[in-house]
Order: sequence, then structure tokens, then C-alpha cells
Amino acid sequence: HMLRKKLPFLHSLLSPVSRHVGHLTGHQYDVIVVGGGHAGTEAAAAAARVGAETLLITQKIHTIGALSCNPSLGGVGKGQLVKEVDALDGLCGRAGDWAGIHFSILNRRKGPAVWGPRAQLDRQRYRDFIQSELLSTPRLTMVEGSVEELLVTEPNPEEPGHHRVTGIRLANGSHAISARSVVLTTGTFLSGSLFVGQTTSPGGRIGDAPSSAGLSHTLRERLGLRTGRLRTGTPPRIVKDSVDLSLAKLHLPDSHPTPFSFLNTHTHCKPEEQLPCYLTFTTPGVERVVRESLQLNCHIQQDTKGPRYCPSIESRVLRFPGRSHQVWLEPEGVTSDLLYPQGLSMTMPPDIQLRLIREIPPMRRAEIHTPGYGVQYDFVCPTQLSPALQVKSTQGLFLAGQINGTTGYEEAAAQGLWAGANAARSALSMPTVTLSRTESYIGVLIDDLVSRGVTEPYRMFTSRAEFRTSLRPDNADLRLTPKGRCFEEVGCVSSVRYQESLRVRNSLQDALTALQALFLSTSSWKKKLPSVPISETKSTLLTGLDLLQYNDVTFEMLASAFPESLSSFMEFAQRLKIEAVYKPHCDLNKKEIERIQREENMSLPQDIDYFSLPVSLSDEVREILDRVRPSTLGAATRLEGITPAAVVNLLNYVRVTE
Ligand code: FAD
Repeated sequence: HMLRKKLPFLHSLLSPVSRHVGHLTGHQYDVIVVGGGHAGTEAAAAAARVGAETLLITQKIHTIGALSCNPSLGGVGKGQLVKEVDALDGLCGRAGDWAGIHFSILNRRKGPAVWGPRAQLDRQRYRDFIQSELLSTPRLTMVEGSVEELLVTEPNPEEPGHHRVTGIRLANGSHAISARSVVLTTGTFLSGSLFVGQTTSPGGRIGDAPSSAGLSHTLRERLGLRTGRLRTGTPPRIVKDSVDLSLAKLHLPDSHPTPFSFLNTHTHCKPEEQLPCYLTFTTPGVERVVRESLQLNCHIQQDTKGPRYCPSIESRVLRFPGRSHQVWLEPEGVTSDLLYPQGLSMTMPPDIQLRLIREIPPMRRAEIHTPGYGVQYDFVCPTQLSPALQVKSTQGLFLAGQINGTTGYEEAAAQGLWAGANAARSALSMPTVTLSRTESYIGVLIDDLVSRGVTEPYRMFTSRAEFRTSLRPDNADLRLTPKGRCFEEVGCVSSVRYQESLRVRNSLQDALTALQALFLSTSSWKKKLPSVPISETKSTLLTGLDLLQYNDVTFEMLASAFPESLSSFMEFAQRLKIEAVYKPHCDLNKKEIERIQREENMSLPQDIDYFSLPVSLSDEVREILDRVRPSTLGAATRLEGITPAAVVNLLNYVRVTE
């Protein structure tokens, strides 16, 4: 907290660091992280927490932790990732609690497994929090600079095409810095081009130069990695005072903000200090402006794939003509004079952007502060990575975030944490570790990337997880914190967090035992809880846990009926209700989870020659297996184009060779 108060002073301390970059030459770091976005900051912090001497190099120190696009965190699927990053002691959940100015749980009408914790953020506060956390992280140094080249060894003659990373070289060929592991998190900057109207210019984000061509060259030409091209875009920022918000629908936050972090009981912003959002809709005039200006809009004319679930207004009106589309007017911060019009990402010329927004009633007289723009960038096909996010052909090189073809802060943060922890483990000569899709959304995300690859920007949804009733936002700490703490497994969780998670786990277990010990006949329950319609057809004896599964029974009701055994667990009332409701589903899932875990434990050697494997496999299947090189039988099972018969044959082969 004191650090945060001193931020302006600490910021001034950073510039001397950047001026003395020359002193780092010749220094050997365990881990170098390239890029200070959402993946890079989590990667650097996680690597340092694991125990590695870590250097974070980014183009501009003051943009560390910047939210390039929407000022918000979480949502359905994405909120689950934030909770998991937090359970592994990452930064973004606590940063969200500090910077949030409008908290809401999305999907509340559905079950808690698919609730989406989300917050509108104050941009400046978010950035400040991330920077102050990094400044106070032991073993972490930050430096301003642009990485131009990766230093790698010549391929090992015994393993053609296999390299080992040895460090980086900064722009202008000046400084080389050595490291045992390097994590690349260059976001939208790799060969980035910005688009507004018919103008294209090199850039990774407005106001920021792209990553130098040398870096793409090392990845493609030197390391032989396959890359692709994707695009995304952002809306214009609108001057708040120029918008008539009385013409839009008021949308209030939750009256009791729910923190993201398991360490926080409340958010920094008090409930009554939260700011509202507003909802409005596009008119036929918006569609007319889009159609009239298509020939002036080169971004939209390109074939490069953009984010399907966060499309530009041009794509929306062209795909669904004649419809009215939602536009959310969201605050950018407590003291900001700007509004972020979510849903109006656009790349037409600035004068036409102004015409377009003025077709929407609350914005009839609106002024644009910064025009919207598009960005196209290179990504590295993620099937070339192992589940530890390490490039299979280059020991010590890890990739995380948008560079792997994902979109979104949360997806980037999750990969960053995992890549950073593994980069540190590899540098410290510990085995790298993986997360299964049966235990976390992070596991689902990484498995989807490395097994299936991407053809369009990848974002997380709850529907991607097979076991979402077990992988709930409320229990991410129980699933991941112990694993994160254990040095044999990950080693990135602090003792404070671990102790807190133990306290919670033990209390929940005690409470569940107490609930199961309340073993009464239905008639006794009816006397205790007369307002609850307890069905006579149910078994005549019911435990407290059985009863808590009823829709209209809360833990509070049970605790007031049995205060002596339950009242000490009131702090966990909501968690216990959720545990009880999902218990039958989770019990059912157990067998299937065990089967998948068995398959995940059957590893497929990375040097198999699939073309000469003496089992019955079609040429097409051999070609897929050779290209992707899945690390386990489980990963092979999920590859597109792999038939059940091929899986059985592979299984027999693995059993024989094991
Ligand atoms: P970034 O946050 O982009 O961070 C990359 C960092 O690497 C930067 O700090 C950069 O300075 C640094 N860097 C790059 N190259 C070098 C180098 N050679 N040397 C040193 N430092 C380097 N997400 C959505 O979910 N929905 C959207 O609609 C959306 N729209 C977007 C629109 C735009 C215009 C942009 C730019 C991004 C958008 N995003 C959107 C994406 C979101 O910003 C990213 O998913 C997220 O920031 C990715 O995090 P990252 O850490 O991978 O990369």
C-alpha cells in the first residue's frame, strides 16, 4: 500500500534503470521476459516467485500493465482464468480489485459454475498497481529497450533443427544479455501494422513502434517456426461531456462488489463509489455510413482473420444487415473524461468515424478524443509449443499471450504465468510442469492451443471446458493453490497465500463433515425448517448436505437451525451452498476425469517417426501426428482429424513400448 502511495516517486526511479542498460551486458540472467503487457508482467512476476533472477525488457517502462483496448477484466470464461491466475498468486486479480470501478457477476441467472466475474477498470489505477507490484518483487529487474534478436546456439548435429536459447540482443545491435530461458510476450507487436481508413503504418499499438523485423526473422528463418497473421481493432474514445447519457439505458453495478482475489474480502472501490455503464443501440444510419465508406477502409477489405466474438462494427453490420446492435458506453476511469464505446471497434477514416457515432442518439453531438484503429500482427502457430509453452525445437524459449494467437488480457495473463513459472523451472534445472484440462481452465486453454492450434484469435468460453461443474470460479484456490505452492509441482505461490488457502480448505472440509453429521428424518427436518417443502418421496433420512442441495435451502437457514455445529462456518455460506449443489455432478465426472488423467500420463515420445510407426494409421493421421507431435495420448485424442480407431492403435503402441 505504501509503495502504491509512492508511485510517482517510484516511476522516476525507473528511468535511471533504463539509462544504464549497458551495465546488463555480460550479466547472465536465469530468465529474460520480453514485453511488459499482460502476459509479460505475469511471466516476469511468476519467474521471480519461483526463484529465478529475472529481467523484464519492454519497449516503454511507463506502458507496463497498459490495457490496450477495453478497460475491463474478466467475464464469462475469462473471469475463471482471472480466478485461476490469482489462485497461483498472479497479479491480475488483485490489480482488478484495486482498479475496479464497476463490478458485476455475469450469467448470474445460470449456475455458479458459469458465473463470469467481471469489472470495469480505471486504466491508470490498473497500470499503477501492476507497476508497483513488479517494483516490489524480489529478484526482478526491469529495463526499457526493444529486443531485436534472440541469441540461440547452432542446431545440435545429433538433433537437427534443435536449438538452445542463450539470450537476446537489443535494438541497434548494441547490447547482448545472456539468459538460460527467454519468454517472448510481444502481443500485437510482431511485424505489427496499424490501419485507419486507407492509411497503414508500422506499429504494435497506437503510439508504439512494432517489434523489430529482426525478431520475426529469428523466429521464422533461424528457428524455422511457422507463423500466421491475425488482426484486431479498437473503438474511438469519446469525450464524456459531449454525450447525452440521459438518452441511454442506465446499467448499475452489483450492489456488493465481489473481489476477484481469494486474498481480498472487499474491493478498493466502495460499493457506493462505483460508476454506472450505459447501454444504447446502433441505428440504420450506422449501417448506411459503414456501407458508404467501405472503399475507404482497407482493414475491413483484408482476408486476415479477426476476433469472431469481438467483431468490428463494420463486420457486425455486414454480417447481420438491418439489425440494431448493442453499444455499451463504459467509463475509462474515476477521473477520466472519456467513454469507451464497447461494440464500436472501427477502422474507417476519422471523419467518417465521427459521422458514424453521431448516428447513435446519445452521441448526436459527440466528439472523438482518439479515433479507432485496427492492427495486424504475426503470431507463432502454437502447435509448435509443448504444454509448458516451450518451443519444442528450441530449449529455453517460451512464448505466451497474443503471440500464440489468443486475444484478451486474461488469456495472455494465464499463459504468461504458466510460461514464466516454467521458464524459471527450466533455468533452475527443474523439470517443466503441465496443467491438465481436467483441473483448470488454464489447462484447457494451453491444451487447445498446443493440440489444436488456432485459425482465428482464440478466446476462452466456459463451453470449451468439459468439466466446468468442477472447474468453478469459486474453487480455483482449492484446485490450484496447493499445486502452485509445492516446489516439486510449480513453486510460484507465496507462503501467505498458501496458509490462507489451507485455512479455507480445512474450514470447508470441517463444515462439510458437520453438515453430513446432521442426519435426520424428513419429519424432523420439516419441524426444524417448516418453510422448506421437503419431499416425502425422498429417502426418509437426509443429511444437512443433502438438504443444502434444495433450491430454497441456504446455509444460513441450516446454521440458524443448528447454530452449535454450523454457525462458526458462516464466512463460507455461499461456497458451501455451491459445493453442495455441484457435489452430485462432480461425483459423476470423477470417473471420466480419471480416464483422461490416465491418458494424459501416457506420454508420446517427441522423436517418434510417425510415418514408419508399425501400427495401422492412415496417411492423413500420420501427417497430423507428425506436424503437431502431441506430447500425450490425451492430447492426440483431441486433435482434429484423429479417429477413435487411430487412438486405439496408438494406445496399444504406447502400452507395448512403456
Ligand atoms: P500486449 O499487452 O500487447 O503487450 C506486449 C508488450 O510487449 C508491450 O508492452 C510491448 O511494448 C512489448 N514489446 C513488443 N515487442 C517488443 C520487443 N521487441 N522488445 C521489447 N518489448 C516489446 N483483446 C480483446 O480481448 N478484445 C479486443 O477487442 C481487443 N482489441 C484490441 C485492439 C487493439 C488495437 C489492440 C492493440 C489489442 C486488442 N486486444 C483485444 C488485445 C489485448 O490488448 C491483448 O490480448 C493483450 O493485451 C495481450 O497481451 P500480451 O501481453 O500478449 O501483449
